[in-house]
Amino acid sequence: MSLLHFRKSTIPPVFAPAATKKDTPAIPDPQVFTITTLQPAVSGLPTVSQCAVHLELLEAFARLRHRVYKEEAFSEIFGEDPEKNLWWRAVVEVAVGRFGIWWKAVSEELAIREEGEAGVANNGSGLKLLPRDLLPPLDVLMVWHSYMLNPRRYNEDCIWFEMSAMMNVAFPYEHVVRMPAVPFKDEQHEAIDDDKWDYKLSGHATRYWERVSSQAPHILEEILWKSPPKRLIRCPACAKEIDVLICEVEPENRKRGWISEEFAVDCEGCGVGITMESLCAEKFRKDIKSLIEGGEGSRMSPRITSLDLQGATYLHPSSPTSFDVLNSLNNLICTTFPEPPTLQSHPTLTSIITALGTHPVLPLLQSCYAETPTPYSLNLSLAVLRQGSFVDKMHHQLWIRSPALMGRLPLDSIPLVRARPETRSVVLINPPDTSGFLQRAVSRYESYFALFKLHPGKILVPTIDVDLVWHTAMLTPLAYREYCKNVAGRFIDHNDKLSDDILDDGVEYTSTAFEEATGGEEYRKCLCWHCETALNEGVKPGGGKEERWKVWKKASGDGKERWKVWKKASGDSKERLVRVRVEYYREVEKRRRDGMGGLEREGLFAAMKRK
Ligand SMILES: [Zn+2]
Ligand SMILES: [Zn+2]
Repeated sequence: MSLLHFRKSTIPPVFAPAATKKDTPAIPDPQVFTITTLQPAVSGLPTVSQCAVHLELLEAFARLRHRVYKEEAFSEIFGEDPEKNLWWRAVVEVAVGRFGIWWKAVSEELAIREEGEAGVANNGSGLKLLPRDLLPPLDVLMVWHSYMLNPRRYNEDCIWFEMSAMMNVAFPYEHVVRMPAVPFKDEQHEAIDDDKWDYKLSGHATRYWERVSSQAPHILEEILWKSPPKRLIRCPACAKEIDVLICEVEPENRKRGWISEEFAVDCEGCGVGITMESLCAEKFRKDIKSLIEGGEGSRMSPRITSLDLQGATYLHPSSPTSFDVLNSLNNLICTTFPEPPTLQSHPTLTSIITALGTHPVLPLLQSCYAETPTPYSLNLSLAVLRQGSFVDKMHHQLWIRSPALMGRLPLDSIPLVRARPETRSVVLINPPDTSGFLQRAVSRYESYFALFKLHPGKILVPTIDVDLVWHTAMLTPLAYREYCKNVAGRFIDHNDKLSDDILDDGVEYTSTAFEEATGGEEYRKCLCWHCETALNEGVKPGGGKEERWKVWKKASGDGKERWKVWKKASGDSKERLVRVRVEYYREVEKRRRDGMGGLEREGLFAAMKRK
């Protein structure tokens, strides 16, 4: 399923290196960002352009992680990391801290602006756009992104923190992509550089970030130029504040570092042993205390709504079922604890949970505390690390550089297109339309999502193209909630923590259900460049042509001879065009990775036209 999955033995036609940047096509074609809208909409599906920006963003995340792996100076700050995961975990932990600063600041800033004259762009639906100058650094964006991909937790936390505006702020796709016709101007324009996937924050956004955080915009700069990153914790016994290093340099001290799985320190004040568990228990005790002391009119049960039971809470705030459940949980907590639990009376999470006995949503509540001692209901660092495997998959498929990304005029009409000189500057290879890989992915997501209504209670597992679209959708939380309500009839959470066994069974079931619902459309299919480019051209991908390719493998002689054999081997002309195109894109990508320039566009046309 890799970039090179299709016939490694194929030797491509030889394309000439381009003399200048102008002679080589831009890949991805910038039109992918303008062919549909980037603006969030309250209802409906994510657009092709949003999905494309999302793919670029994931490449930028991959690039950031790659830079961390390569940054030798981290050995002095975080210690040796032969396994190549310690540094990244430490950096993610720092990013989570930075995210917390930004998230709180932005929420307040939006409230101020909404009252002020300028207001916040809002298209009448409650959906909010993030103003350009509030765009955060890449690492912060990465944490926010992973947070939103756990939509139930994200929405509930927004309510819990009384930051409900953030529930309606859409991910700013239009701010992170470099638009084709707009010249790159530092003051106005944030952008991902689609060559190296670096991300550059504008001057305005940089100043906002520096003002609220007093930190460098680039996380690596922040870590490399300042003292080793720390986290402030509070002793559950004596409330003394203690600085803990994110990561201890010396292996024998590692467990005193915050990211250690066996984290344990002794309080400098009272000497009591502090662990993750003891901090989690303290977080629970504090929340229970504020609930029971809040008395009448205090907030609903800590941290959870009853989405899992009825999926109704955000959608129908007055739904009696969800309120009944929450009230009964509140009552349970208040009757179990006439006095707030203390470290002495209930030293561990388990002791608190045991005291509460059983309640249908208690396990859910428990997980909000067991996962993390931070104020969030999920461990954001782990969420980012888990998201890393999706980033890897996308980087591996590299759809953003695929010739199949968008649909095109049929390849065999190329000579026609080329005969229109006035379009030459616009036409990169041949003019796109929205059909193509991304559009197919969006349609497949639509069919997939409809299954939630038809198969309630079942685990429906997305394929990776469907998952990409799903992720893209969840980054506009308000639209996602609406879509859930309209299509599935309930809120659908996204769970990336399921075990492989469950997933395997789920894929099987989903595949059958999908094929049934779509009248036999294939669910699990190869999504490689070649197969998808073939689909764009209406050629049946793969299958049955192996023999002819063996001929090519054995071919020898000069270019002309090889071409003849190649042509003979590649079957009908359409299939050959697909192959030429894929080989060209693949070659360009290889050269990019080797730091070489692009390939001449003319070479591609010539190879396509060659009879
Ligand atoms: Zn203490
Ligand atoms: Zn394939």
